[in-house]
Amino acid sequence: MARKSVRTCSQCGSPLPEGSRRSRRYCSAACRTKAWRWKREREEWWRSNKEFAAALREGRPYHRPRQRCPVCKGWWFTGEATGGNRKRVDALYCSPRCRTRAYRQRRSRSEGVTP
Ligand SMILES: [Zn+2]
Ligand SMILES: [Zn+2]
Repeated sequence: MARKSVRTCSQCGSPLPEGSRRSRRYCSAACRTKAWRWKREREEWWRSNKEFAAALREGRPYHRPRQRCPVCKGWWFTGEATGGNRKRVDALYCSPRCRTRAYRQRRSRSEGVTP
């Protein structure tokens, strides 16, 4: 039985076009850019929370850094989820909704809305 695994975009999860290269990870250039940006954000986060990251890696007890969502200005604790699902420890925003909103805002800004 031939096992045909449907490969999906690493960013948005939609199926990749059939016959796409093995190295292909994203369905579109937009997704690739988005993934790259998020990666940058995460790297920045790890840099600014080094102690927490080290404690996590070494299994030491740690205090969760409190973060402020840049979109809705609400406070939340790292690793804590609002909607019942577990959150990545390196998330920047309180919810996926805020993350999407931040992304959209950035995009509209970079598209030259200002005169
Ligand atoms: Zn995609
Ligand atoms: Zn928020």
